[in-house]
Amino acid sequence: MLDGDFFRRWLITAAEAVDREADRLTELDSAIGDADHGANLRRGFAAVTEALAGSEATAPGALLALAGRQLISKVGGASGPLYGTLLRTTGKTLGDADEVSRADLAQALRAGVDAVAKLGGAAPGDKTMLDALVPAADALATSFDAARAAADKGAEATIPLQARKGRASYLGERSIGHQDPGATSSALLVTALAETADA
Ligand code: ADP
Ligand code: MG
Ligand code: MG
Repeated sequence: MLDGDFFRRWLITAAEAVDREADRLTELDSAIGDADHGANLRRGFAAVTEALAGSEATAPGALLALAGRQLISKVGGASGPLYGTLLRTTGKTLGDADEVSRADLAQALRAGVDAVAKLGGAAPGDKTMLDALVPAADALATSFDAARAAADKGAEATIPLQARKGRASYLGERSIGHQDPGATSSALLVTALAETADA
């Protein structure tokens, strides 16, 4: 079972990964966006880390919702409300249980991913974070490692796609040939999850 400590470690591991990879995320966003994705997420996840340190929350659902609220309020740009919605909805779906199973998390993440799709009006194949998140949520029903592999594969599979949502879509065919920054950061978050489960 996964307890509050697990979720705290996941979010902090994710924040560290975002901090470490911020330049790469911004570089990807400079090719097909406005070169701020790394900075956006670094600012957001620094706020998440700080909010976690200042919170006594122990329920997995409450911790994810807390992180989601920080991302919504601190990240300018499309990714803030989208990732914020992902974590808030996933957290809400987990409810107030002290511990949840991987299957519970997979199901809740699926609800979170659906909320992102609804908010952004995007679907898999549109070259967005959903190209990593949808297969990862599905594969999490199997294992953490399967989710990590699916997210990585989904992020790489955005390279030949033409963007149909977000800033990259303004480039039309010129968005082809570049990996989507948001799908790349989603893969980082799922990798952090698998690392937390392995630790
Ligand atoms: P902005 O584009 O506002 O500068 P970011 O650079 O932080 O925001 O985030 C860009 C990423 O957000 C994209 O790479 C894409 O994965 C994701 N994104 C943008 N629009 C959407 C959308 N409508 N649905 C899902 N994801 C989206
Ligand atoms: Mg950007
Ligand atoms: Mg921007």
